[in-house]
Amino acid sequence: MSSPRKKVVVIGCGFGGLEAVRALSTADVEITLVDRTNHHLFQPLLYQVATAGLSAPAVSAPIRHTLRRQMKRGNLTVLQAVVTDIDAAARQLVLDGSEPLEYDHLIVAAGATHSYFGHDEWAEHAPGLKTLADAFSIRAKVIGAFERAERCQTDVERAPWMTFVVIGAGPTGVEMAGTMTEIAQHTLPMEFRRIDSTKTQVVLLEGSDRVLGAFVPQLSQKAREQLTKLGVDVRTGCKVTAIDGDGVTYETRDGDTTRAQYLPSRTVIWAAGVAGSPLGRALAANAGATLDRAGRVVVEPDLTVPGHPEISVIGDLAAAKSYGRGEPKPVPGVSPGAKQMGRTAAANILRRLRGESPRAFRYIDYGNLATVGRKAAVVDLTVPVVGAIRFSGFFAWLFWLFAHIYFLIGFRNRIIVMIDWAWAYWTYERHARVVAETPQVASIVKS
Ligand SMILES: Cc1cc2nc3c(=O)[nH]c(=O)nc-3n(C[C@H](O)[C@H](O)[C@H](O)COP(=O)(O)OP(=O)(O)OC[C@H]3O[C@@H](n4cnc5c(N)ncnc54)[C@H](O)[C@@H]3O)c2cc1C
Repeated sequence: MSSPRKKVVVIGCGFGGLEAVRALSTADVEITLVDRTNHHLFQPLLYQVATAGLSAPAVSAPIRHTLRRQMKRGNLTVLQAVVTDIDAAARQLVLDGSEPLEYDHLIVAAGATHSYFGHDEWAEHAPGLKTLADAFSIRAKVIGAFERAERCQTDVERAPWMTFVVIGAGPTGVEMAGTMTEIAQHTLPMEFRRIDSTKTQVVLLEGSDRVLGAFVPQLSQKAREQLTKLGVDVRTGCKVTAIDGDGVTYETRDGDTTRAQYLPSRTVIWAAGVAGSPLGRALAANAGATLDRAGRVVVEPDLTVPGHPEISVIGDLAAAKSYGRGEPKPVPGVSPGAKQMGRTAAANILRRLRGESPRAFRYIDYGNLATVGRKAAVVDLTVPVVGAIRFSGFFAWLFWLFAHIYFLIGFRNRIIVMIDWAWAYWTYERHARVVAETPQVASIVKS
């Protein structure tokens, strides 16, 4: 009698989990994919949903449809459920509202969440951008702020509604600030009677001394110039110390002197910190995993948890290193890293099942892109043999556009995004401005 198929469970259908499932699906294993949502989300374009440039279905795809080819093979089950705990001793997952789920091998690809650096109370006033729900919430806040400003009687009353603050000048913060300026300068001017939307102030606050800190200084400088040209007020060396419903307090240093400043704003967006999913803490408690300062799980070279070769952690939740030539290097929290880890974790499980040794993870870095706004972006490519190719401005923006369309999941989504972007390019329109009457929107309008 043949032995039953081994059960491989994958938590998360983001970039890492999706790639792992695809790589496992042709093998003789029983796969279960668990995600709390019913969709795969293309996070690199999420800011476009938050700023009303694209609708949600253009940047996401139902998991069952995305994996329909793999489902046909008969060894994949997809469950929509929240994994609340991992019982490493019993090799079971605890799911909300259903029976525990057993595994022989587990891949944890639960991603990351926002970190408010010990000030979780700031979340209420400064939402971050990670999920579709976050994007809807930010969109309601941004659109609602202009509506609220139109109803104000005085300039003093109006000013905080027309001041937008983005905290954190990484790629997401830069994209958000650049796009909000574009909305104020080009999309809205003819549509309001009492306010002049071109007077909107968009402030980008950054703790370090430059924007896009992961890029080389020369591209950071280019990005800063492009942001300033678009109309963003870029303030670096600013450490945020308090956020409430009325504004942001931050400190700047001048030699030994620290100066506190207050910026009144009713719309604050948090793009400053990320922390590993809470499932990292479950692995620390139940599998003895070590977490780094950002709550990510420190993994072995083959991406498994030390002492638990049956548990792999990948993507944004893993503090992984790349074992190529020279010293091992930390893997950045980007989608190519998650995808490559997904493939390696799947291949290592299959190797183990064949009685072979697992391989160390090696990250292939193709470079880094970030858009700043219309016709403005920076590109830092790593091309084999040639080395680094760096450029900025209009051609970098075109490169960014086509790269994102290429990597977007689903043929329909690619077409829709291309049409929407072409339309927006010629008209400056942002078609996804319709906001549902949720309690949150009601509270903005009433406040
Ligand atoms: C706004 C934004 C912009 C970005 N832009 C870029 C970019 O331009 N280029 C780039 O390379 N990278 C970008 N990134 C980073 C990139 O998206 C991540 O590195 C990548 O998504 C990590 O993949 P992952 O599989 O680890 O996690 P994710 O893609 O975050 O997927 C995690 C999955 O796990 C599920 N999940 C989480 N917890 C549970 C639970 N308890 N139970 C069940 N399911 C759960 C979630 O629903 C989700 O589907 C961006 C990220 C954000 C947030």
